[in-house]
Amino acid sequence: MKKKKKLYEGKAKILYETDVANVMIQEFKDDATAFNGKKTGRIKNKGYVNNQVSAHLFRFLSGYYIDTHFIDVLSENTMAVKRLDMIPVEVVVRNVAAGSLLKRSDYKEGEELKVPLVEYFLKDDAKGDPMLTPEEIIEQSLCTEKDLRMMKNLAIKINAVLKLFFSRRNIKLVDFKLEFGWDEEGKIVLGDEISPDTCRFWEEGSGEKLDKDRFRFDLGDVEKAYEEIRRRVFLEETAEA
Ligand code: UDP
Repeated sequence: MKKKKKLYEGKAKILYETDVANVMIQEFKDDATAFNGKKTGRIKNKGYVNNQVSAHLFRFLSGYYIDTHFIDVLSENTMAVKRLDMIPVEVVVRNVAAGSLLKRSDYKEGEELKVPLVEYFLKDDAKGDPMLTPEEIIEQSLCTEKDLRMMKNLAIKINAVLKLFFSRRNIKLVDFKLEFGWDEEGKIVLGDEISPDTCRFWEEGSGEKLDKDRFRFDLGDVEKAYEEIRRRVFLEETAEA
């Protein structure tokens, strides 16, 4: 497969066209940004870690009949993915109170939520990714009611699968962000990435943060945390109790 012209460059990834119809190359960069681009930097080996971790998790999810855009790993920091028409909505799932939820509630950081919360944000940097209600998503024709129901159901299922995957590796899946798109048949498919850039991972017990919050809040040992997540993700599944 040949890499052709650059289709899109974001803060952490680049998408290239290929000579194969409906197949793109997703390249993961070491560049890091936070607070809507106000903080920038580089995390050594982040591209490698995020590519490998995303690939492994996408493969794992496909074993649970969850359709993802992932096709194959091509190199340390690139993967072949299915071309999707992306829905401009970030779907956030939370198991534990952290991040922006703390600013609009009385939850204390680390409080377990009684049920997972699903939230929606408009993918629009210029507007600062504002929160959206389901009604606003439909009203603004970002997707249909059926698509939204599908995304929510998938997000809840993905959470259940990943929560268990990480708990077996002594990691608490605090919250994460997903992005979905339509494939050429109009089916809703999981796109983007699942990595320490897009999830909050806390070590069970100590609560040590092993994700992008180490970069956001200058906690140090950022590269070490990313590498630790990669190592844990690739640990053999322990036998189920
Ligand atoms: N997140 C993301 N991209 C965004 C916003 C959030 O990947 O543009 C992830 C973030 O890493 C966290 C979860 O979504 O795992 C919830 O983020 P939150 O709403 O708390 O916002 P934050 O405080 O991280 O900006």
